[in-house]
Amino acid sequence: MTETGIEDVMGPHRFRNNQRMVPASESAWQLAADHGMLDIRVDATHGQNRLRDVRTGHEFLNLASCSYLGLNSHPTVVEAGVTALREERVTGLAMAEFRIRLDAAHRVEEELSALFGTRVLPSISCGVLSSAVLPLLGSGHLTGTDPLVVVFDRFAHFSMNFVKPVVADETLVLTCPHNDMDFLEDVCRRYPRVAYVCEGAYSTGGLADLEGIRALQERYGLYVYLDDSHALSTQGPYGEGYARSVFRELDERTMIVASTAKAFGSTGGIAMLGASSQFDFLYRSGPMGWSQGLRTAAIGTTLGSIAVHRSPELGVRQRRLAENIALFDRRMKDRGVRGTGSHIKFVTVGENERAVRLATELYRRGYYCSAMFFPVVPRGQAGIRLMLRGDMTAAMTERFVTVLEDVLDGFA
Ligand SMILES: *Cc1c(COP(=O)(O)O)cnc(C)c1O
Repeated sequence: MTETGIEDVMGPHRFRNNQRMVPASESAWQLAADHGMLDIRVDATHGQNRLRDVRTGHEFLNLASCSYLGLNSHPTVVEAGVTALREERVTGLAMAEFRIRLDAAHRVEEELSALFGTRVLPSISCGVLSSAVLPLLGSGHLTGTDPLVVVFDRFAHFSMNFVKPVVADETLVLTCPHNDMDFLEDVCRRYPRVAYVCEGAYSTGGLADLEGIRALQERYGLYVYLDDSHALSTQGPYGEGYARSVFRELDERTMIVASTAKAFGSTGGIAMLGASSQFDFLYRSGPMGWSQGLRTAAIGTTLGSIAVHRSPELGVRQRRLAENIALFDRRMKDRGVRGTGSHIKFVTVGENERAVRLATELYRRGYYCSAMFFPVVPRGQAGIRLMLRGDMTAAMTERFVTVLEDVLDGFA
C-alpha cells in the first residue's frame, strides 16, 4: 500500500476553499486585533451613541451596528421581552416546534403576517432559514417540480453562499456576476426552471435590480429567493423592506427572507411567502427542525417591535435615518464613498493595513467603523464599512462627517 498524500483527501473545492480563505482572512483579523479593534468590551447602558470601553473608559459612537433604527434599545421592545419571560415562566420548550410550541409563538406568526400583509414564517435566525430553504428550493420541493437550476448572485451574503455545496448536491448551481440580468436571462432561456438567490439592499452597499428581476420572473417564471435583511424595518410604511416595494403581492414563485436581529431590533429570522404556500415540511427536513423556534424572550421582543412598527414612531425613525443619509451624502459627495442613498457606506482604501489604520484613527476620535477585508470584499479593496442610524441626531451625523473628512484629508 502506498502512503496516502494530501491530494488523495483534499476536496474538490468547487464552491469553497478553506485552505485558501482561512489563512487569508485570519492574517487580516490579526492585524485588526493587534490594533485593539477586536474584542472591545462595552457598557451599553447609554445606548449605541455612547458606548463605553469598560477596560479603558474610552467612549465612542457605534457605526458598525445593524440596528438601523435603534429599536434594540427601545423601551417597548425591551420591556416586552421581560414581560414574556415573566408570563410564560419558561425560557423555551426545548423541543422541535412542529410538535409542540407556545401559543405565544403562534401569535407571533399571526401578528407578523398581519403586519407585513402576507404569510410569514418565523425562525430562530435568517441564516437557519437560508440553510433550510435553499436545498429544498434546488431539489424542487418548494415548487413541487423537478429540480431548479439555482443561480447565486456573486455578492449574495455568506449565509446563502455557505449552502452552495449542499444545493449543488441536488442540482446545478451557477454564480451570476453582480446584478447581471443578461447572464440571468441567458440561463432562463437555456433551462426550464431557474431560481435566483440575491439580496435586496446589499450588506456591502448597493441595491438589487428589482425591476429587472421582476421582468424575468414575468417572462420566464423565474423563482426569486431574496434576502432583505438590511432593509427590513428601515423602508416601507410597515417596515416591510425594499424588495416589497416591487414584489408587493407575493406568490408561489417568490420568497423574501430577512433577519429580525437587525433594524427590527429583536432576534430571529422571517420568511415572507405567498398566502397559499404550504411549507410545513420545511420544519421537518433540515435546520428548522433541529434548531428550535424563537425562545420566549425573542417572542416577547418580536411582539414589542411589532407594536412599535404599528405606531407612528416607525415613520419618525425612518425619516430621521433618511435625513442622516441625505446629510452624509451631501457632505461626502466626490469622495468616492460607496452607498449613496443607502444607510450602508463603504470607504475603499486598498490594502488591509490601510483599512485597519483608518478604522483605528476613527476609533481614537470616538467612532467605531468596521474594517473589512477579503473575502468579504475583493483582494486589494479593503476599507471600512459604516452604517448610519435613525437614532442618531443630525448633529451627531454632522460631527461624524467632519471628523471623517478630516481623517481622510490627512490619510496617506
Ligand atoms: C446578518 C445577515 C444574515 C444573518 O442573519 P441572522 O438572523 O443573524 O442569521 C443573513 N443575511 C444577511 C444579508 C445578513 O446581513
